[in-house]
Amino acid sequence: MTELSAAAGTTPADAPVVSVNGLKKSFGNVEVIKDVSFDVSQGQVLSILGPSGSGKTTMLRCINALERPDSGVISVGGVSLDYGKGKPRFRDALAQRRHTAMVFQHYNLFKNKTVLRNVTEGLTVVQRKNGKEAEEIARNALEAVGMAGFEDRYPNNLSGGQQQRVSIARALALNPSVILFDEPTSALDPERVNEVLKTMKDIAARGVTMIVVTHEIRFARAVSDSVIFMDGGKIVEQGAPQQVIDHPQTERLQEFLNSLA
Ligand code: ADP
Repeated sequence: MTELSAAAGTTPADAPVVSVNGLKKSFGNVEVIKDVSFDVSQGQVLSILGPSGSGKTTMLRCINALERPDSGVISVGGVSLDYGKGKPRFRDALAQRRHTAMVFQHYNLFKNKTVLRNVTEGLTVVQRKNGKEAEEIARNALEAVGMAGFEDRYPNNLSGGQQQRVSIARALALNPSVILFDEPTSALDPERVNEVLKTMKDIAARGVTMIVVTHEIRFARAVSDSVIFMDGGKIVEQGAPQQVIDHPQTERLQEFLNSLA
């Protein structure tokens, strides 16, 4: 049994896939995450809204153990890190990171590798799958995002929307416990935004657990199971999309939604 599956095996069936409890993070003496807690269940989509600088990216980076919180407990796929007990062991942080996959604003594809190699890379290098198995998984993932037939192309020969769909395929292929999306459409030309949102909707419908930092309110309302509005490093409002987006309770959220309209 691999370390990864051993860790995954510790999750009770009804436990949240992602659990964040009492998360705090400062850079220098600026506290950018102030005691944030939330859970995401298996197959659910959580959208995180909030103005620039409210701590959304930092929170995603804490969830995939790229950033070390000052305190709080984060569990992903049954791997739990308690930052109140000091620096976690490297192997535990790595085990948690392997339960996540990230989709970035700027795709972050390898420019010198084909589409297929971009998707197989993590499977062979990180998950140590053999080439044949990796290729089969990668082809299925590319099909799922509507990019079958593009396997031999290079990123520079693709539109931004197509590159982002390849990066979603790369995340999907890893079969992580959760996919973390950091403003996946904000670098795209307006006419490319919908194809990526549709791809995300399709993979959500496959039961993939997702946390999505986005300014796409219509997507958040249509696809999310729950929505968090953050401001100044805190959760200001949290709940079902119809509640949070259609019936904001605070002036701050009302102003934010008006600013996007
Ligand atoms: P958002 O994603 O909501 O725009 P971020 O998480 O990127 O917010 O940033 C939250 C705050 O933390 C901002 O004030 C930002 O300048 C600061 N910040 C983020 N990363 C660092 C860092 N590595 N060093 C210092 N300050 C940082």
